[in-house]
Amino acid sequence: MSPKKCPLDREQLEELTKQFSTPFHLYDEAAIRSNARALKAAFAWSPGFKEYFAVKAAPNPYLMKILKTEGFGADCSSLPELMLAESVGLSGEEIIFTSNDTPVNEYVKASQLGAIINLDDITHIEFLEQCAGLPELVCFRYNPGPLKGGNAIIGHPEEAKYGFTRPQLFEGYRILRDKGVKRFGLHTMVASNELEATYFIETAHLLFDLVDELFAELGIKFEFINIGGGIGIPYKPEQKAVDLTVVGEGIRKLYAEKIEKAGRGLLDVRMECGRMMTGPYGWLVSRVLHKKNTYKQYVGLDACMANLMRPALYGAYHHITVPGKENLPHNFVCDVTGSLCENNDKFAINRALPPVEVGDLMVIHDAGAHGHAMGFNYNGKLRSAELLLRENGEVVQIRRAETPQDYFATLDFAGLNNFKA
Ligand SMILES: *Cc1c(COP(=O)(O)O)cnc(C)c1O
Repeated sequence: MSPKKCPLDREQLEELTKQFSTPFHLYDEAAIRSNARALKAAFAWSPGFKEYFAVKAAPNPYLMKILKTEGFGADCSSLPELMLAESVGLSGEEIIFTSNDTPVNEYVKASQLGAIINLDDITHIEFLEQCAGLPELVCFRYNPGPLKGGNAIIGHPEEAKYGFTRPQLFEGYRILRDKGVKRFGLHTMVASNELEATYFIETAHLLFDLVDELFAELGIKFEFINIGGGIGIPYKPEQKAVDLTVVGEGIRKLYAEKIEKAGRGLLDVRMECGRMMTGPYGWLVSRVLHKKNTYKQYVGLDACMANLMRPALYGAYHHITVPGKENLPHNFVCDVTGSLCENNDKFAINRALPPVEVGDLMVIHDAGAHGHAMGFNYNGKLRSAELLLRENGEVVQIRRAETPQDYFATLDFAGLNNFKA
């Protein structure tokens, strides 16, 4: 069971809305830090363990900075993400650049930053060499195809556009070796939002075995394996979070059996989780604008799918609470909607809630990853502010809400670019 709680109660949220109008995303620094420490503790046996926060989950430098002070790096896959990592003072091998279908300027930037470059395809060896030169350390993304089952969000690995096939992996490392590359990493990422701890242990197993085979065939040693991100979070109250100590302990055992026994020197275990680092510690706070009773009951919020797209995009479940009404009977069944002119702009369908009134606050849980980040402007909808609850209880704004000027910023059209809200 994963009880769904917002760190601020109704009164505190109401107080906050005097300063910041709804909707807004709220993040909890103390909870983000304590989860980050739990992940580190699970891998305390591995001195080189490093988590590279997948920036796309919550691309806000204030959040990235919190994770940096916990010792984490950044996993980037675009130019602006690399710029964000740079802005918080991450550099060199604290950044891993895992891109695909990569444009020249991104390899150039990653290379200037000295980031670990994780290639998605064998043809990118030559592409990278031509646009930025081959660095001393290169990593490949492996796609195990039918050798590993995927899951619902990422799909079957053999249908996934990412990574090298097994034969390409051997060929690719041979090319690198022959070109004089000295340092090697091996990466894979085959699941997303996976709640089964054994899945990650099996992924490490797969990579440990592969490192052995690559050594046997090519005589190259690996500095690290990166088992990717994909640790899931319990979006539903009846689900259970992944037990990180089980993951850490399972990988430790394999490490002892396979890496320490082989005696070829140690390698680091790395990860690049996004969702589990911030997801459960972020909430979308909104207010009920309207109630509507037609063929169904509807509750309309001042937030819409531009603020949190997962339910509309994947039919994903996000728990919803009505602050102050948590303990009332949940016998009001309704669809919770936003205002976008798309019928899938619904945060919940046939959800049992307590009796809801216009003006009530609503809290949508587990919105801290792939939430604000997936925001968009379709239908003239504007992205909300992001607020951070500091460890001392203070709430600070870490991103302001968009205004119509932001929406028009890329237009040079009389009457719009001077628009005043
Ligand atoms: C999205 C992504 C991640 C993070 O995935 P989560 O499910 O958020 O942990 C890590 N690595 C790569 C390459 C990704 O594309």
